[in-house]
Amino acid sequence: MVSIAIDGPSGAGKSTLAKRLAKELGYIYVDTGAMYRSIGLYALRRGVEPKDADAVQALLPGIELGIQLQDGAQHVYLNGEDVSTDIRAEAVGMAASAVSAHPAVRAFLLDTQRNLAKGQNILMDGRDIGTVVLPDATVKIFLTASPEARAERRRKELEEKGQPADFATVLADIQQRDYQDTHRAVAPLKQAQDAVLVDSSDIDFEQTFALLKKTILERI
Ligand code: C5P
Repeated sequence: MVSIAIDGPSGAGKSTLAKRLAKELGYIYVDTGAMYRSIGLYALRRGVEPKDADAVQALLPGIELGIQLQDGAQHVYLNGEDVSTDIRAEAVGMAASAVSAHPAVRAFLLDTQRNLAKGQNILMDGRDIGTVVLPDATVKIFLTASPEARAERRRKELEEKGQPADFATVLADIQQRDYQDTHRAVAPLKQAQDAVLVDSSDIDFEQTFALLKKTILERI
């Protein structure tokens, strides 16, 4: 079985690229960020501060996550409710970043993620797939771009969605998430030693896609 791990910071275009790569390769796509987002969403809905490790840990027994593929798209179910749209809100991304720092949350999701990778060809994206979740992945890619390039893409995306935001605010959010993701004690965002580094700062989506595809095909 082939497993492909794609890690990198927020806003590098990972999920859009990963989704399309998985489709072309005929692999199952697993978006692990969506799982952290679901726990972040649950904390927010329950009025629990996402940074409070003990309070978030106490919520875990009440959470059942389901992952289902429908027409090639991943849907996430939180206690039976399809939250695939709700988890995309900016506030939920921030909450996800905060809850993902808690060891209990990471342990809670680790088995689910490893089990998904058993017995099928998969492409999984996240922050710690190559380093922690699938250390023996067939191909590991670390996809990054400068904070400014990521902020400009995100700003454009929000504008297209009718949610205009100014560049400085988006950049500050990205920098804060980068800081949180790289400085946490457990499974921080970092490039695996054997990962191929792809920097998309100066290339567009199609060029990045072509480069990733070539990188994968050369190794499987
Ligand atoms: O990739 P996405 O932006 O959806 O991830 C949301 C948050 O979940 C990230 O900021 C990161 O803190 C966390 N995350 C993680 N480990 C993963 C995937 C996501 O810590 N494997």
